[in-house]
Amino acid sequence: MCFTTIISKIFSKTIPKNKDIDEYIVEKKLIGYECLICLDEFNQGQQLTVIKCGHLYHTPCLNSWFLKKKTCPLCDEQLTI
Ligand SMILES: [Zn+2]
Ligand SMILES: [Zn+2]
Repeated sequence: MCFTTIISKIFSKTIPKNKDIDEYIVEKKLIGYECLICLDEFNQGQQLTVIKCGHLYHTPCLNSWFLKKKTCPLCDEQLTI
């Protein structure tokens, strides 16, 4: 599933075209989506970051990852952030 599809499915809005990542606040628990860094689900009120490749992570988890590498932890997509 592509990035914009996921975004519009979950958040009913579209992603700015020239961005590699975008941040959202979780409005309700996202069943079936988990952060692949800490392996927890996304719960209401948490901040998450979506990458253009379509992967979702908790913002704090991804920020720690970005201290090491500027890529998607799962698919190694290079990111400009
Ligand atoms: Zn996490
Ligand atoms: Zn990815």
